[in-house]
Amino acid sequence: MYPQLNIDLSKLRINLDKISEIVKNKANCSLMIVTKSYCADLEILKLIENSDVDYIADSRIENLRKSEKIKKEKVLLRLPMISEAEDVVKYADISLNSEIEVVKKLNYAQKLLKYDNLNLKKHKILLMIDVGDLREGIFYKNEIEIFDIVEEILKLEYIELFGLGVNLTCYGAVIPQYDNLSLLVNISKKIEKRFNIELKMLSGGNSSSLHLIEKNKLPHNINNLRIGEAFIRGTETAYGKKLKGLYDDAFVLLAEIIEIKEKPSVPIGDIGVDAFGTTLIYEDKGIIKRAIIAIGRQDINIDGLIPVDSELCILGASSDHLILDITSCKIPYRVGDVIKFKLTYSGILSSFTSDYVKKVYLE
Ligand SMILES: *Cc1c(COP(=O)(O)O)cnc(C)c1O
Repeated sequence: MYPQLNIDLSKLRINLDKISEIVKNKANCSLMIVTKSYCADLEILKLIENSDVDYIADSRIENLRKSEKIKKEKVLLRLPMISEAEDVVKYADISLNSEIEVVKKLNYAQKLLKYDNLNLKKHKILLMIDVGDLREGIFYKNEIEIFDIVEEILKLEYIELFGLGVNLTCYGAVIPQYDNLSLLVNISKKIEKRFNIELKMLSGGNSSSLHLIEKNKLPHNINNLRIGEAFIRGTETAYGKKLKGLYDDAFVLLAEIIEIKEKPSVPIGDIGVDAFGTTLIYEDKGIIKRAIIAIGRQDINIDGLIPVDSELCILGASSDHLILDITSCKIPYRVGDVIKFKLTYSGILSSFTSDYVKKVYLE
């Protein structure tokens, strides 16, 4: 049954071991493995359960609920909605926060939970600081705002201020460097001194922070990283460099050829817009060999496909059809053959959220 996503668990296991070696052994950080891009798939969760990963992290409660039985601490990555506070404290041990109203609601929800379980610890939070990427967090220059929220948090009986976190390279595409991560370290030192407390965790970002480890430029006080893409695709994400010894093809998408015809490369007639409202420009290559495969924009994000056969070229896609130029291919493709693709981050994400893509596990 196609389209089909092959999930190679032994390649993922090797990727996980290598990430752990880099983050835990080399950088001396604790490791959160991020499960959102594969919707907290249960088979992959089992790999994580049997590894030395410290935390399971996800942006969605639905996904954390899937990992409820796994004996690792759980982290909610996206700032909580006030409306989900009860579930946040139920399914996550730690959450990332920047708004005092939300933290107060979490405090109240944790208090209610504690009625049922007196042994329950406090809900831990990482206060997010924005050092320039301009997504979540309190802007690093607004020190008064940072001190005020810390003061408020410290008053809450059922919340522990566990540490600080920073996120980079998601919205503003800002690359983590020694200097901007040091801003986080400096703020933490100021907080510790001012309030006479210890901040246990300084979470220094995601897969885009890995390049600093190799260069020995990760500030020493950073003691945690949250890794998603590097685990599943084997690349760091600041410069898109492949990491040594990791696989970039743990996920492979397969789709079947339903037509092969020789036709011109330029459509004939007046050109309007395509099914998705865009005007395309067609290069005139004369008569070409075109293949249609049975996958389209309703199945996955087509821009996330990387053909394994580098001689074939993606011409375009509609809802249910993907059109390929196979003129230069050495492989003599026939109708019924299967075309393989490696996937970008969005390709993996959209394959997992799609009900139309069948998931197959390779051991
Ligand atoms: C998604 C996410 C991550 C993981 O990012 P990768 O680039 O996949 O490593 C880390 N932290 C936060 C807050 C996230 O939302």
